[in-house]
Order: sequence, then structure tokens, then C-alpha cells
Amino acid sequence: MEANSMTLVNLAVSSLFIFALRGLTFPHTAHRSNLLGILGMCLALTLSLIYSPQRFTVLLVIVIGTLIGIFIAQHIQMTQLPQTIAAFNGFGGLSAFLTAVCAVLEDKIDPFDTPIGSALGIFTFTGSLIAFLKLQGLVKDNFSFLTQRLNLAIFTVMLLALLDYSHLPNNNEFYILSAFAGLLGITLTLKIGGADMPIIIALLNAASGLDSAAIGFVLGNPLLIITGALIGVSGSILAYIMCKAMNRKLLQVLFSSKIEKLSYSPHPHQEVRTGSPSEAAFIMENSRKIIIVPGYGMAVAQAQHTLQQLAEILHQKYSVDVKFAIHPVAGRMPGHMNVLLAEANVPYENIYGLTDINSEFSSTDVAYIIGANDIVNPLAKTDPNSAIYGMPILEAGLAKTVFIVKRSLATGYSGIDNPLFYADNTIMLFGDAQKVTQEIIKNLEHQQ
Ligand code: NDP
Repeated sequence: MEANSMTLVNLAVSSLFIFALRGLTFPHTAHRSNLLGILGMCLALTLSLIYSPQRFTVLLVIVIGTLIGIFIAQHIQMTQLPQTIAAFNGFGGLSAFLTAVCAVLEDKIDPFDTPIGSALGIFTFTGSLIAFLKLQGLVKDNFSFLTQRLNLAIFTVMLLALLDYSHLPNNNEFYILSAFAGLLGITLTLKIGGADMPIIIALLNAASGLDSAAIGFVLGNPLLIITGALIGVSGSILAYIMCKAMNRKLLQVLFSSKIEKLSYSPHPHQEVRTGSPSEAAFIMENSRKIIIVPGYGMAVAQAQHTLQQLAEILHQKYSVDVKFAIHPVAGRMPGHMNVLLAEANVPYENIYGLTDINSEFSSTDVAYIIGANDIVNPLAKTDPNSAIYGMPILEAGLAKTVFIVKRSLATGYSGIDNPLFYADNTIMLFGDAQKVTQEIIKNLEHQQ
């Protein structure tokens, strides 16, 4: 293919990706944006096929990859989406690493891009693997023996190996750098706990883009450079936004030596007040204002449609002002709750972010906390020893009556007990988020 037409196709594909990203900003344009992204990817794959000297191998790899992709997309549950994304990030990193290894094996000497791409790639792969295991609940410990010093020591070895390689490229330095980068991915991510996991996920996402961009330079592939840069920059912005939302500094998250303690545990004789859906319905129909706080349990129970039904009936039949409050790290991936509420057609104007809604809880009759735990835990404000200390929370406890829907008194992702369960104005509604909400709706429909 001529260089000019190649440039044009590259430009078209890059534009499609940029428009796709742009459109994902709003729920009503998200579907069309996905189609644009798919079109861009199909064009890019066709380009690789036409341009490659080994068309059969490329075609085979595309077919195998497509089949695996379709299988995964059809078989994963909505609740497994965060770990699936972590895994996909990791495979992006692995492919960048393997491409760099091929470049080294073919003696394509490049003092900068190859080692950087390789180190970021293997770091992304091992880090994402640990993130996957943590999100899947297979690894729970925060490995507090993995200290700041250890991570800094590994990082220093990496820097020395990189400096050495850039002066006089040799394979040994390349493999030492890659091995230590892989190790850093493991030690850093194993240590991350509590509220910091979303930040490391955004960071791994950024790394997976930057390694592709670096490998794009190695291969002289402008498309890889552009798409890698897009992912790298958007992931970095997301990491920054997450840090701000969580009141954390990035270096503090990565290299903090603070040993997390699970400081609070309820008094053995402390009791919670339990209620029934009919009591909840009675209090709700006599309220003027209700704020719904969804969390990970709403995603598990797939209760978003039922919640929207609840909001509608309260508003239409009982003239209650109903709002939804979303915490930046609610659920298990950035924007998790926004996606689910948009899917259930909750009007965008009824959804409020943490800073916009927090001042309203004190004038609210009911906070309906559904499958949420860490994001409303007051210890984040009161207990400096707590792993979530400093994280802003939704101040749901300030509402006149607080209903918490969950199946037990079990802790959330951070593993910390929640004193809000025992507060005087809290009523626990034990059960599955979907079933409890349906019961409340039934009561509301039959009353009056
Ligand atoms: P939490 O993990 O704190 O709590 C979720 C609660 O949902 C659990 O305590 C569980 O209690 C309950 N639950 C589970 N299934 C159901 C069900 N079917 N019906 C009713 N309740 C259910 O979630 P939050 O959303 O409050 O907080 C998010 C946490 O995840 C934060 O710590 C955040 O740092 C972390 N995180 C967030 C990421 C992100 O990007 N958003 C990424 C990685 C981690 P029970 O078992 O008793 O029902």
C-alpha cells in the first residue's frame, strides 16, 4: 500500500478512536461511540492484514483472538467486568513485553523505547494479574511486610539497569530491567489495599497505553503510538481524578510505608436495629426527600432496574423527591454505578456526585444505602489507623433515618467493620438488594 494511503487510513482509524472516546462521555452517545471504536479496530486489523508479510499467521491470530473475545464477552457476568478489564489490561502489557523481547532477539537495538516498553509492559502484566486475583477475591491479604523500602530498592535497580542499557545496550541489562519491573508490578499491587485499589487500576490502565506507545516507536507504527498515547493519557487523567477524589497523593499510594490496621471492631454486645420492607415502605412514603446510595452489592444483585422502579413509584405516587448519590469508587471499577444506573434509565439529572450531594444528607428524611459499605463508613473520617482514613465518604449517616440493605454484617472490600450499622438512626434491612427493594415496592403499591 502506498505511503500516502497508509497515512490516510491511519488518520481515519485514529479519528474514529478519538470520536469513540469522546462519545463515551455521555450515556446517550455511548452506544454509537462503541460502534465507532469497533469500526476503527476492524479497519486497523484489516490494515495489519494487508500490510503484513505473514498474512496467514496474522489472520490466524485475529480469528483466534476474536473467538476468545466473543467467548469471554458472552460468558462473563456483569459483576465480573472489573476483573475482566484488569485481565485485558494485563494482556495488553504482555503483548507489549513480548514485542520488545522479539525486537531484542532480532537485534533491533534501541536504547530507550524498547526497554521502556518492555518494563512498562511486564509491570502492567504482573500488576494486572494481582489486581485480577484481588478483584476476584482470591487474594485478600495486603501483605504489609512488602515495605516502601523494598519497592524503592526494586525501582532503583530498574533505573540503574535502564541507564546502563541506554549507554551500551546489552541483553543482560534488558532482561534484568524486565525481571525487576515484573517484580515491582507484583509487590506494588499486592500491598495496595483499602481505598487505593481504584487508583492502582487506573495507573495500570495508563501503563498499558504507554507501553503500547513505546512499542509503537520501536515498530515505527504510528497507529500504535496514537492509540497507546490516548490510553496512556486518559488512564493518567483517571488516576489523577481518583487520587483527588480519594484525597490521596500518588506517591503516597505507591510507596507509603503505612501499615494498615483494621482498627475498629464492634463491641461484642453491640446490637443493630433490624427492620422489615413494610416498615421501610411506611417511612419512605411519608418522607419528603430520599437519597439512594448504591454500592457494589447493587451490582451483584443487579438491582438497578428495581431501584429505578422504586424511585419512580415514590416520586409519582407519593411526591417524594428522590436522588441518587454516587461515590467515585463505589463498586469495583471507575464509573461502575454510573454505567448501571444509566442502563436502568435513571434520569441523568437525578444522579449526583459526592461533592454535590453531601451537604443535602442532613436535610434528608431517608438515606437508602443499598449494597454499599466502605463508601459510607465514618471511620474514614474519624480513625487515623484505618486503611480508608482520609477517603471522603458519602455522609449518609446524617440523614434522619438510614436504611442499609445487605445480607449480613460482613465487611466490604476494605475488610473494615462499619460503625454506621450500629448507629441509633440506622435500620438494617437484611437480604438481597434486589429482593428487599422488590418487597418495598410491593408494599408501596398496595398502600394508600
Ligand atoms: P463494599 O465492597 O464496601 O461493600 C459492598 C457490600 O455489598 C458488602 O458489604 C456486601 O455485604 C454487600 N452485598 C454484596 N452482595 C449483595 C447483595 N446481593 N445484596 C445486598 N448486598 C450485597 O462496596 P462499596 O461500593 O461501598 O465500596 C467500594 C469498595 O471497593 C471501596 O473500598 C473501593 O476502594 C473498592 N474498589 C473500588 C474500585 C473502583 O474502581 N470503584 C476498584 C477496586 C476496589 P453482604 O455480604 O453482607 O451482603
